[in-house]
Amino acid sequence: MAAFLFASLTALLVAAAVTTAANLATTVYLHRCLSHRALVLRAPLRFAFRVLTWVTTGIRPRQWMAVHRKHHAFTDVDGDPHSPVLLGWRTVQLHNVGLYRRALRDPELVRRYARDLPADSWDRLLFDHALVGLGAGVTLLVVVFGWVIGLLAAGIHTVMYLQGNAAVNALGHHFGRRPYENSATNLQWLALLTMGEGLHNNHHAAPTSAKLAFHAGELDPAWPLVRLLAGLRLVEFRHPGGVFRPPAARRAHPGLPVASQAIDRG
Ligand SMILES: [Zn+2]
Ligand SMILES: [Zn+2]
Repeated sequence: MAAFLFASLTALLVAAAVTTAANLATTVYLHRCLSHRALVLRAPLRFAFRVLTWVTTGIRPRQWMAVHRKHHAFTDVDGDPHSPVLLGWRTVQLHNVGLYRRALRDPELVRRYARDLPADSWDRLLFDHALVGLGAGVTLLVVVFGWVIGLLAAGIHTVMYLQGNAAVNALGHHFGRRPYENSATNLQWLALLTMGEGLHNNHHAAPTSAKLAFHAGELDPAWPLVRLLAGLRLVEFRHPGGVFRPPAARRAHPGLPVASQAIDRG
């Protein structure tokens, strides 16, 4: 019994560490760097993030950025790949992966929305083989922690990572505060779980800001690390200091769909 408790607790801690790393790769590399060009990663760091994304997420970067950019182009109107306004937040929370895959059935999606990220030889060799990367990640966990803890940690990580990402798309367009006039919301507790992504209303107001926390009481957990990396000259910002903070709306947005976003509809 004690051995089972020890294995479960260890697996939970390992999974929490892996999910934190995956969320960091998602928000810094896939989202702030690739999708919005809010920051540029210097070559060694960029490659490290490519490897981290490959072994922890099962995502092909060009596909993620294409789906995400389409979400910004059609936020909560017809064409949004995962809108809780159109589909209901429960549907997006439970079927986020299916909605993501459905969007990718459009053969034009990646070509149109990720044309600035052509595949290179590393993509063809490694990073376009997302399941191979996941297999490598799980194998690493098993080699380091053994079969039981390794597989348990991989399972817990998969659930936590997918549910956290789904929550940004589902809850982050339904529940929470709207200091800016867009249909996304700020949820600080979700931001703590997703390395800042829960400050989604701020993000839709200023997609090219590398920092997602704009107001007193808001915390973007990825920001101290990003700023440290910038201090080491491994990160460059699009805006001075990495912050582009628009003036707050005079009143909270009622949650109606908005059409105007930072990215053209292609
Ligand atoms: Zn959104
Ligand atoms: Zn975005």
